[in-house]
Amino acid sequence: MAPRTWDFPEGFLWGTATASYQVEGDNANCDWWEWESQPGRIRGGDRSGKACDWWGGRWAEDLDRAAQAGQNAHRLSVEWSRIEPEPDRWDESALAFYREILLGARARGLTPFVTLHHFTNPLWLAARGGWLSADVVPRFERFTTKVVSALGDLADWWITINEPNVLAYSGYAGGVFPPGNRSLPHALQAMVHLMQAHAAAYHAIRARVPGARIGLAHHYRGMRPARAGCPLDHLVAWARSSTFNEACARAAQDGILRLPGRRVSIPQAVGTQDYFGLNYYTTEVARLDLRAWNELMARSAYPAGAVLSPNGFLANVPIGLTHALRWAGRFRVPILITENGTEDAADEFRRRYLVEHLLHLWDAIGAGAPVLGYLHWTLVDNFEWAEGWNLRFGLWGLDPHTQARTRRGSADLYEQICRANGLSEETVKQHSPEWLATADARTGSGGAAP
Ligand code: BGC
Repeated sequence: MAPRTWDFPEGFLWGTATASYQVEGDNANCDWWEWESQPGRIRGGDRSGKACDWWGGRWAEDLDRAAQAGQNAHRLSVEWSRIEPEPDRWDESALAFYREILLGARARGLTPFVTLHHFTNPLWLAARGGWLSADVVPRFERFTTKVVSALGDLADWWITINEPNVLAYSGYAGGVFPPGNRSLPHALQAMVHLMQAHAAAYHAIRARVPGARIGLAHHYRGMRPARAGCPLDHLVAWARSSTFNEACARAAQDGILRLPGRRVSIPQAVGTQDYFGLNYYTTEVARLDLRAWNELMARSAYPAGAVLSPNGFLANVPIGLTHALRWAGRFRVPILITENGTEDAADEFRRRYLVEHLLHLWDAIGAGAPVLGYLHWTLVDNFEWAEGWNLRFGLWGLDPHTQARTRRGSADLYEQICRANGLSEETVKQHSPEWLATADARTGSGGAAP
């Protein structure tokens, strides 16, 4: 029998995703830099320092790596604190820097995706209360206008805000991102502002770049009840998923932000996503815990028996991607996987994780999911927020002290996939033999569980 292949649609976008703070280095004018300097905030007291030294020019060699490895897209973000270092003072040299990167991406055949906000705020905004401050929405709108006026001719794909749900929870309820608040009402208020800011940014981009395709990068975390027979676990899993996974996505569709005990009308948000940006990493289970007030009374854990990543940061649950795609399909716009990946310094786990997620993606596409591309997190190891340098997500490893890059086996595998626009039988046999064993039953099955 001829070998089989798992092909992706013609013109599929294959790339990697990065974020300015995590790769640029020396971002001293933003809240994360200050946060890093506080004892106990970052694991092991790590500092981002030069990060991947993109600000020093190493973006060029890293985009070379991406292009030479067969990728045709790259997602990056711009740093608000560099572009507007003080309120209403614009740094044209920072904008020129981003023009150069975008031109560099295009020259290398990488379709750029530009994220306007990826977790970091200028210090001056943080001092006013960050996403709780009264004027954050018009401020973000002005920033967006400035950015698209300078860069709008160089990118068609725009992401207003990365993971408003993660930012709101981690910064304002969980206390692990700046400003370190531990208040659920603060997190919900931040979410209101984030979605108002998204809507304002959407219209600001649309006004200046009529052909732009604009969306958000939504973090979807699968949430299942821990005890199948326990109605209260079902209830808390549903409540958490409604707020964490669904609220922002639905608001960008119908203009209503549904929060616990509160519905906020944001009419300007109606229809403000031209595509659905989906970040999927893992799935968890939730059980009722009345003490977990900030977590909407759910204590979460990884499913019993799930295979965890080397640092235990995530569980490999690729069927969760199928569920996420089915859910995202309800929004009736094309879908882009804007992030998916795992930490794995030794590169022993990542290939299986990658192949299994791509097979589930392939299967969902066969069942009709309108997916246009896949952006792996990430290109080169970068500064992993509160986890510092402890978690290594790169296709290339990085020694942050010497800036030396080391190509991992996963980069070779991903290159084969990008170049072939699909997975070969050899690849599937090697990394997901179970899939091969049941392949015939699966063609376009829409993600039946293995
Ligand atoms: C974030 C990235 C982060 C990745 C891995 C995503 O939620 O957007 O910035 O590095 O997860 O934790």
